[in-house]
Amino acid sequence: MTERLYYTDSYLRRWDARVVDRSGDGRTIYLDRTAFYPTSGGQPFDIGSISGVAVLSVADEEARIAHQVAEPLDAGQVECAIDWNRRFDHMQQHTGQHLLSAVFEELFALHTVSFHLGAESSTIDLEGAAVEPRAVLEAERRANEIVFENRAVSVLFEDAASAEGLRKPSGREGTLRIVAIDSLDRSACGGTHVRSTGEIGTVLCRKLEKIRQSVRVEFVCGARAVRRARADYEALAKIAQLFSSSLDETPAMVAAQLETARAGEKARRKVELDLAAYQGRELYQTTAPGLDGIRRVSQRVTAGSLEELRAVAQNFTAQPKAVFVAALNDPPSVLLAASADAGIDAGKILKAALTEAGGRGGGNPRMAQGSVREASLLESVLQKL
Ligand SMILES: [Zn+2]
Repeated sequence: MTERLYYTDSYLRRWDARVVDRSGDGRTIYLDRTAFYPTSGGQPFDIGSISGVAVLSVADEEARIAHQVAEPLDAGQVECAIDWNRRFDHMQQHTGQHLLSAVFEELFALHTVSFHLGAESSTIDLEGAAVEPRAVLEAERRANEIVFENRAVSVLFEDAASAEGLRKPSGREGTLRIVAIDSLDRSACGGTHVRSTGEIGTVLCRKLEKIRQSVRVEFVCGARAVRRARADYEALAKIAQLFSSSLDETPAMVAAQLETARAGEKARRKVELDLAAYQGRELYQTTAPGLDGIRRVSQRVTAGSLEELRAVAQNFTAQPKAVFVAALNDPPSVLLAASADAGIDAGKILKAALTEAGGRGGGNPRMAQGSVREASLLESVLQKL
């Protein structure tokens, strides 16, 4: 059995140990005692080094802890060191989780069902279909209040049968490791924690998301909260600069600019339609009718969309005896419009021409549109039309 040094001392960073077992290739190492935390209970594993060789991952095999190392290691005495920045960050996030879960329980009787410590942020899932955003703000305020009170966080070993006042009942038997926040919380937990709430640093709640039967609260603590706030500030400052406004005035400024942009877009669409109507009528007036009295126009564009020509076509064929064909090279597509008295069914004619070229599309007797796979096929469709 591996002696777990982190159970009694979360602050142990360097220690001596003995390699008591190893895999055939020497890359999986078992020590007599270790402070390397294995992935467990939502907290990721520690990294660091064993006699100068990098520890890549650490896994809990119940009785023993397996260390995956970058190079083969021999049996015997070794010097171990954990990556303290990573570990202390985990301790801040994990203790922050105990604190946050405890205040959600204290203030709103919201039970934590699971916890995940991620690379960027952490989450707790609260039981229940809905959590009000103001409840999260209140929990955040209360959690930070307890951080400022700098309450002791202690580790106790008690018998499962007699351990009382646990936030969540433990299914374990025998000795329980209990992590307690003074006058607030007692939880059975095997993870690593800071020794006082002050070391958690600022607790910052972020996204609130509904996940099936629970609500997920994203949060960051300590140095992560500072990094996150810094990144948020930089992003907001850039936006504020683009809008030439102060940070606090930016939301109202963005809302006003969006409103202006929407109004501008609406006006642009109207002008576009007015222009298409004008162009359609002008085109009709300047196009000489054929011997059969029909005015025919064919237009071609290389790239973009047929939408603009569609409006022109509609206005052109809104007048008597008119047929309008438009083609677009990329993506290869075609449009056919006909006035009510032109004597053709645009939908039927276009569909037939497209089908022959292996394309697809259709429409009604007055307006039809479709596409073919490649530009060369467009020619045969146009010939046919
Ligand atoms: Zn814990």
